[in-house]
Amino acid sequence: AQDGPEAKEIAQYLPYFPFKGIPRFYDIGGFLYEPAIFQKIVDIFVERYSVLQIDVIAGLDARGFVLGPPIALALKKPFVMMRKAGKMPNTICSDDYKTEYGNRSGMTLQKDKITEGQRVLIIDDLVATGGTLSSAISLVKMLKGTVVECACVVELKMFVDPPADSGLPSRTKLFKD
Ligand code: 5GP
Repeated sequence: AQDGPEAKEIAQYLPYFPFKGIPRFYDIGGFLYEPAIFQKIVDIFVERYSVLQIDVIAGLDARGFVLGPPIALALKKPFVMMRKAGKMPNTICSDDYKTEYGNRSGMTLQKDKITEGQRVLIIDDLVATGGTLSSAISLVKMLKGTVVECACVVELKMFVDPPADSGLPSRTKLFKD
């Protein structure tokens, strides 16, 4: 679906607005309000991941909590939350990281939710610099799990290689390992 007609159709229900100093904040509230489009997005992911071996689905705070559960239920897999610090008991925490909007504190995951060797799918709404996803990947690695893929509805391509003066790492380099 990446650049095909389905992606174009979905994009019509993904408006952007200036928000909190960001000139283009993509609002997933657009497609959540359209059951046929939301269903299509879930179906695209379910089709892709039903043929890969996945043990656990992890969703990122906060919009990964909206997209992840219908996918996890359709695939009949456990869903785990990756949250900002201080929200859940018995957690591990990843390092702080950098995004286009500045530094963010690490994400947390409950220690008993992923065990050694488990294959994990990570879900969020959007990837920009990749800082948030790489923080999620490091949590899975800390518990000795394997990340099968990271799945997002929106990719901001400009951050594959961000401007040199932004101080942000290239996303390609970030995900190299
Ligand atoms: P990154 O860490 O890749 O720079 O930024 C991605 C994270 O910030 C995701 O968790 C995503 O939810 C949030 N984010 C950044 N920009 C936007 C945006 O324009 N729209 C939405 N919905 N989320 C964004």
